[in-house]
Amino acid sequence: MKVILLRYGELSTKKANRGFFISTLKKNLERGLSSTSAKIVHDRGHMYIECSDDELEKVEDAINHTFGIQEYDICDVCLSTKEDIFNKVLELLKDKEFKSFKVETKRAWKEFPIKSPDFSRMLGSYILKNISGKKVNVHNPDFLVNVEIREGKSYIYFNSYKGLGGYPVGVQPRSFVMLSGGIDSPVAAYLAMKRGIKIDCVYFEALPHTSLNARQKVIDLTRKLSKYQGTINLHIIDFTKIQEEIYKTADNSYVITIMRRMMYRIMEELIKRNKGAAIINGESVGQVASQTLNSMKVINSVTNLPVIRPVACLDKLEIIDISKKIDTYDISILPYEDCCTVFVPKHPVINPEMDRAIEYENKFDYKKMIDDAVSHDYTISIKRDNEEFSDLL
Ligand code: ATP
Ligand code: MG
Repeated sequence: MKVILLRYGELSTKKANRGFFISTLKKNLERGLSSTSAKIVHDRGHMYIECSDDELEKVEDAINHTFGIQEYDICDVCLSTKEDIFNKVLELLKDKEFKSFKVETKRAWKEFPIKSPDFSRMLGSYILKNISGKKVNVHNPDFLVNVEIREGKSYIYFNSYKGLGGYPVGVQPRSFVMLSGGIDSPVAAYLAMKRGIKIDCVYFEALPHTSLNARQKVIDLTRKLSKYQGTINLHIIDFTKIQEEIYKTADNSYVITIMRRMMYRIMEELIKRNKGAAIINGESVGQVASQTLNSMKVINSVTNLPVIRPVACLDKLEIIDISKKIDTYDISILPYEDCCTVFVPKHPVINPEMDRAIEYENKFDYKKMIDDAVSHDYTISIKRDNEEFSDLL
């Protein structure tokens, strides 16, 4: 059996909300572990997972997709007696490669008769005596032997592993991510979830100008993202009529500006109907014409909702790094075009004027079209490991 001790780090600074944060973390972990027989124990300010050795890989995978864990230690367990601890440490060290080591003891159970520094020293000598060719190095050891002595049971572990950090998904209210098939928006979604925001995704589709392959990409991206949240609702919004109308009425250089104002309006209406909190998207300052600060000002002015842009100040290469880490990159670079790329004008305006945007918009009844688009929101619920929507073609 293994015990995995979880360290929350940043969570512990949130004094007033601590209980809520921790219960959310526990619930999220339980969901991640539901296909295993692992057990989560929350006891006296510590959370740990008990699992069998053969389920360790699955448990680690769940931990590595759960925000709110700063660090974790994979421990072997023995009884809290000197003999038991010494024997267990020796047994575990037998097949490890190292030259120098250091023992660190934490005595959480104060009734244990030997003080931590004394225990470390005694265990160190015991290791030296029983395994040849090893040295103690307290400043820069190859290998750290950690012993945590608690009432009843003690935990032995070597290296600590880094968790994802952040806050547990669900400690912030549900918000809506504009998810295109590109590289940036899945990364934005990931970073938003990392702040504890529960997300829905929204995809604007312009059939037949865009293909069902593009839709499939967004579904596949949502499934990748759902590993961090359990289930994600993907809203598919039919954008064709609005887009065609914009093309008929606006100057070519303004079509992207207006298209994006319409997307924001739809987002606002969708969020209102679904009681969401904020808009999240993959805009990055200066990346394209519609993402200059002057463009953002004109586009953003159609809504009062907070617009969170997690990748606003990242370089493309930094965004790509994250997309590779979360395994969305290979899907994002598939060539199917979405509605922005299909309709991209030759010379999009970099410094749009508000008045001109409004003038073009007033040439058609967009309010009704927006209402129509939101009313026909086609939502699919995408679960991790659920292949139900793996192929909609
Ligand atoms: P990405 O790589 O995420 O596609 P991008 O650099 O291509 O971003 P744009 O196409 O200008 O940038 O879009 C900026 C943001 O607007 C996207 O990151 C996404 O959040 C949103 N967006 C764009 N097109 C769509 C779409 N068809 N459906 C949903 N959201 C979209
Ligand atoms: Mg895009």
